[in-house]
Amino acid sequence: MAVKMEQMYEGKAKKVFATDDPGLCIVSYKDDATAFDGKKKGTIADKGEINNRVTNHLMKLLSEQGIPTHFVEELSARETLVKRVTIVPLEVIVRNIAAGSLSKRLGLPEGTKMGATVLEFCYKDDALGDPMVNEYHIAAMGWASAEELETIAAYAFKINEALSLYLKEVNIELIDFKLEFGRLSDGTLVLADEISPDTCRFWDSKTREKLDKDRFRRDMDDIEGAYREILKRLIGQ
Ligand code: UDP
Repeated sequence: MAVKMEQMYEGKAKKVFATDDPGLCIVSYKDDATAFDGKKKGTIADKGEINNRVTNHLMKLLSEQGIPTHFVEELSARETLVKRVTIVPLEVIVRNIAAGSLSKRLGLPEGTKMGATVLEFCYKDDALGDPMVNEYHIAAMGWASAEELETIAAYAFKINEALSLYLKEVNIELIDFKLEFGRLSDGTLVLADEISPDTCRFWDSKTREKLDKDRFRRDMDDIEGAYREILKRLIGQ
């Protein structure tokens, strides 16, 4: 059993602790919520526990389908043991339906069906507002090798297939989502970070009600209820 040691990092939604095993970390999910590059701040009751449990549930599902992930073991309602990785400094965004920044950028009404799945990369840098970049920027800056980027893209499409199909069964439409990948000490790429209502757009398939962080971003009511509804549909509690 890994022993929790010093805090290595505190982000907007999670803290990361070292353990006595150099290959493992403990992630602790917070109730803090931010949006618009940290300009909007708040808390969402029980968000940390919900995101921890939803993420682990989906990570397990994906690893059963052949996607390598950083997940090791859920330790408590908020805490999970994960493999230690160096994060690739890219947000990998997969879009099935137009929404959010894509709708704004291209003038497509939210909910517009597109002809194919869209993959986008953003450079992870809060001070710069996570600017969108393409594979040429990524190669030029050395953020990932061409081979790594190919693997990341293949994983992202496979994850999209698996999650979309799974969520459809519980009447959730996967509109878009963000992934992050990391490298283990031997260079192996694994899926890292979280997959939760903070990082995905989930719409009820029938009513198209938003069941994700857009409720917080857009000052809508019953944010907690939406997060709880996702947990209930996925895990049944
Ligand atoms: N997303 C995220 N973190 C970010 C930016 C985006 O998790 O820093 C997720 C977001 O929740 C959505 C998808 O990525 O599911 C696409 O987000 P978009 O580019 O539309 O930006 P947003 O409208 O969230 O600013």
